[in-house]
Amino acid sequence: DDLPDPDVVAPWPEDVRPPEPGSESDKYRRGVVGILAGGDAFTGAAVLSTGGAVHGGAGMVRFASVAHPVELVRHRWPEAVTTVIDPGGSPGRDVLDAVGRVQAWVVGPGLGTGDAAESLLTAALATDLPVLVDADGLTVLARRRDLLLRSAPTVLTPHAGELSRLIGAGREAIEAARLEHVRRAAAELDATVLLKGSTTLVAEPDRPVRVNPTGTPRLATAGTGDVLSGLIGALLAGGMPALDAAAAGAYLHGLAARLAAAPDPARRGESPISAHDVIRALPEAF
Ligand code: AMP
Ligand code: MG
Repeated sequence: DDLPDPDVVAPWPEDVRPPEPGSESDKYRRGVVGILAGGDAFTGAAVLSTGGAVHGGAGMVRFASVAHPVELVRHRWPEAVTTVIDPGGSPGRDVLDAVGRVQAWVVGPGLGTGDAAESLLTAALATDLPVLVDADGLTVLARRRDLLLRSAPTVLTPHAGELSRLIGAGREAIEAARLEHVRRAAAELDATVLLKGSTTLVAEPDRPVRVNPTGTPRLATAGTGDVLSGLIGALLAGGMPALDAAAAGAYLHGLAARLAAAPDPARRGESPISAHDVIRALPEAF
């Protein structure tokens, strides 16, 4: 109520309502999201991001990675359609073609920051589809800002540390003036920027910044950010504009965390939650 700035808005539930499937819907029209995540070092991020998309209303989730994360994703999310990337070499457009048709890409959770990650990110950003970049993808992007010169929507989901690398501002300076920095980042990077943390902010050039009202500090646990990336990817694939998809994703993610932490409002108090609990509570949040 007492937001100080007319260029800042806190959305109401109806502002962030995702599209409902109709009788004419099929899985392709509801949106196919492609996820490029995980590697030999990090596998959990891939599983969690895919889970966010599976429970985020995607018509289909397509997932590509090297063999081990693909094994785990297949085991945990049989709903996902998977593609194994040959290790070594520089996977790029060939991988995207092997994955098949999608309406949005999610790139980065657990992907690594080496040459293979860079060439996958380059290929995704060269498409004319919406692309969400998170985690390791943001680290690569910090040295390849030229990849942001594209006309399709780009959604970046950094925490303060990741944003610090992207815009060359100190982490403390960002935390001390989050609103100012998220605005600056959106303008400089010409992207939709979702700044994670105590209060999630979503900025786009020349638009009011959206302030997410649903978060909870219980989200501050490993893996919840990966869930968010898949969830927003599903909303993008479903056709929501980037700013709405990012704001709706943050809203549903925060609400799911609250529902998971306090499933019975008649009982007082909250319980600790894990990233998987957030995924499981997404249907109720929707
Ligand atoms: P990541 O930094 O990628 O692991 O994502 C962490 C998730 O937890 C993001 O959705 C953050 O917005 C959220 N989060 C982290 N710290 C807090 C906090 N203190 N209050 C509310 N949400 C938080
Ligand atoms: Mg993260």
